[in-house]
Amino acid sequence: MTDSCIFCKIVSNEAKATIVYRDGQVTAFRDTHPVAPTHLLIVPNKHIESVGALETQDEQLMGHLFTIARKLAEDEGISKDGYRLITNTGPNGGQTIFHLHLHLIGGQRMRYPMG
Ligand code: AMP
Ligand code: ZN
Repeated sequence: MTDSCIFCKIVSNEAKATIVYRDGQVTAFRDTHPVAPTHLLIVPNKHIESVGALETQDEQLMGHLFTIARKLAEDEGISKDGYRLITNTGPNGGQTIFHLHLHLIGGQRMRYPMG
C-alpha cells in the first residue's frame, strides 16, 4: 500500500470505483474515462509501480492477472469478437497512474497503428 496511490486506495476500499472482480491477488474495476464500450482496469492488489519494477517472484501474479483478464472478457461478452490488453509503462509508454494495471478494452473494432 502506498498512501498517495489512487489504485491502492481503490484496492483497500478507501476510494470509490465500480469494482467488477476482486480476489486475494487482483482487483478489477471500470475505467472512469472509457475509450470503448468495455474498458476495465485489472490491478495487482499489492503496489507494483510498473512492468519496469517487476521481480521474478511476481511471475505467478502476472499470470493470474492475464487469466482474470480472459475471464472478465468472457463475463463482458467480448471474448468471441476479441479485445485489446494494454500495459502502459513509464512516461513514453503513456503511463499516468504508477500502479501496474492491465487495460481490458473491447466491444468495438480497435484502431491501428498502436503507436
Ligand atoms: P495509464 O495512462 O495507462 O496509466 O492509465 C490510467 C487509467 O486510469 C486511465 O485510463 C484513467 O482514465 C484511469 N483512471 C484514473 N483514475 C481512475 C479512477 N479513480 N478510477 C478508475 N479509473 C481511473
Ligand atoms: Zn498502488
